Amino acid sequence: MIYLDNAATCKPYLELLDLFNEIEKDYFANAQSYHQLGLLSLEHLKKARKKILTSLNISQTHLAIFLSSATEANNLALKGYALKYQKRGKHIILSNIEHPSVIETCLQLKEEFGFELTFLEVNEQGMINLDDLKKALKKSTILVSIMAVNNETGSINLINEIAALVHQKSLAAFHVDVTQAIGKIHLNYQNIDMFSFSGHKINGLKGSGALVIRKNISLLPLLSGGQQEYGFRSATSSVALASTLAEAVVISLEKMKKNLAHVKTLNNLLHEHLSKRKDIKINSPSNGSPFIFNFSLLNKKASVVVEALSNEQIYVSSFSACQSNNKGFSYVVKALGRTELEAQNTIRVSFDYNSTKEDVLAFLKAFENIIERIKG
Ligand code: PMP
Repeated sequence: MIYLDNAATCKPYLELLDLFNEIEKDYFANAQSYHQLGLLSLEHLKKARKKILTSLNISQTHLAIFLSSATEANNLALKGYALKYQKRGKHIILSNIEHPSVIETCLQLKEEFGFELTFLEVNEQGMINLDDLKKALKKSTILVSIMAVNNETGSINLINEIAALVHQKSLAAFHVDVTQAIGKIHLNYQNIDMFSFSGHKINGLKGSGALVIRKNISLLPLLSGGQQEYGFRSATSSVALASTLAEAVVISLEKMKKNLAHVKTLNNLLHEHLSKRKDIKINSPSNGSPFIFNFSLLNKKASVVVEALSNEQIYVSSFSACQSNNKGFSYVVKALGRTELEAQNTIRVSFDYNSTKEDVLAFLKAFENIIERIKG
């Protein structure tokens, strides 16, 4: 089996499965219970929170809210903030290639709660333009949400510059979806007011995620109840999942430099082979995250090719598994200036630390055979 769909989800580190078992076995008590076992569980929860914040150099300024996924984190950040501070203004700025969990959330805020949205367009590299952002900021802007790394193409935004601009020119909070960036590329988290991510994109466990917010920020909770997670997300905390998430962050940050260099060589290898083909258009920008390589087939159906690869147990994806528009093409690739047909026939190959040169060569060999074999 050759798994090259790591932007969708990764295989967890085995040591994290062990850690999950260990914590769930020995510290299963409710972290809010006042007996000794409860207090021990609470210690593990606090340790996990501290690990995340310390490893990102933001322990003095931010706090971490444990959640189930990046989808939940994006929902809580955007709805929680917008509804809490709506008296200050009802304008939100986002890019037009955000993940559906950001776009759909903002559309809901517009349709159900009367917020005004400005969608910033991206250039061919998938980056927003700082002048466009500057022009879009106004007195009523309370939130700006721009992703660090796009999940389909790997395009990277200039998060430091965007943060500086938002903070200089407005009172808006700056939210960043760092799901495809954390532990993979360098980011300065101090400049960001709120950021979302999940464990399973960094070889952690599915069902774990977090929203990290500046300490002075408040949110309208989406789940009310027993006041867990600073009152922002009620429900009994999973100490075991929180612990694996913290560990996944620590491991991926520790190994980031090495993994980045390794994955770059794999990306270069793919690029070298595929850029020679006239029947392909590469969608991932050369300055993007090397973990993601996206291209369009110009005269074959990507869904057919992906299925044929899957029959050989080689796993990649066609356009994003979580499409919001159901139009049958990738709105992300289309936004880069591609045609609808090109945006329909995209293939995404995505790596993790575990991917090998042999995986890439096997993919290329199978891909070339399939292209020869199948009709349009
Ligand atoms: N944001 C981005 C950029 C993503 O890639 C994903 C996962 N496709 C999400 C949010 C949602 O993550 P989760 O599956 O953890 O809800």
